Amino acid sequence: MKIIVLSHSDYKEKDAIYDAISETESLSFKLNHVKSGSSPYLWMNNPMTIAEIEFGDRRYKYPPVKDAKLLFSPLNDNSDFNYLKAIGMMNETTLSIVDKSERYLLFKDIEEAIDSLSKTKKYHLIAAIFLARAMKIAGVDLQVDRCVFCGKTKDIVAFSFDDGGFVCKECADKTVERTLSSTQMRLIRYLFRTPNYSCQKSEDYSINDIVTIMRHLKQYIEDCLGVNLKSIDAFIK
Ligand SMILES: [Zn+2]
Repeated sequence: MKIIVLSHSDYKEKDAIYDAISETESLSFKLNHVKSGSSPYLWMNNPMTIAEIEFGDRRYKYPPVKDAKLLFSPLNDNSDFNYLKAIGMMNETTLSIVDKSERYLLFKDIEEAIDSLSKTKKYHLIAAIFLARAMKIAGVDLQVDRCVFCGKTKDIVAFSFDDGGFVCKECADKTVERTLSSTQMRLIRYLFRTPNYSCQKSEDYSINDIVTIMRHLKQYIEDCLGVNLKSIDAFIK
């Protein structure tokens, strides 16, 4: 079974419990003797490691791993700080805002995003797309298709985080905050609507614009869910 490791914690004297996702489920498992230092599976301790694992008896609450093969390590051949920060941010986002039972819905996203980080090196954009995807699964979506008040798709003039989306000319009165530029409004729609992580048609979005949106999204998540995603600060400062 192909899995992505999300986190681990000590268990008894020598073992550790891992939280992970496969394409179809969120799961936990146990590695015996991994804390002894001589385990062949120490690489499993890096969050966002992708592995092929074989279970022993799955009837246990924490089924023990019989065999495991490393498919991808975030620490392999890549010393770029932004790359590691983007992966750290994706990891914290998955663990902090998505319910455990639904985390597996991000399996393909994590795979695709990691692949695209290496290929395109558009670290900020990919992390921001991932954040938008995770927000949707966590139920903190934003209206980026039409006016959040009247539903009109024309004459969109503002984006209001207070109201949760686009606002049209007719509905925008003085109380509606106008925090985003027109480029940033196109960007936020791009983040929530782009079908994949290939970063096509993203050339005119600057890192500054992406960072501005990420700051707003971080605040929005904090307001809605009470979760402070610290890794976003570390990533965009
Ligand atoms: Zn309107």
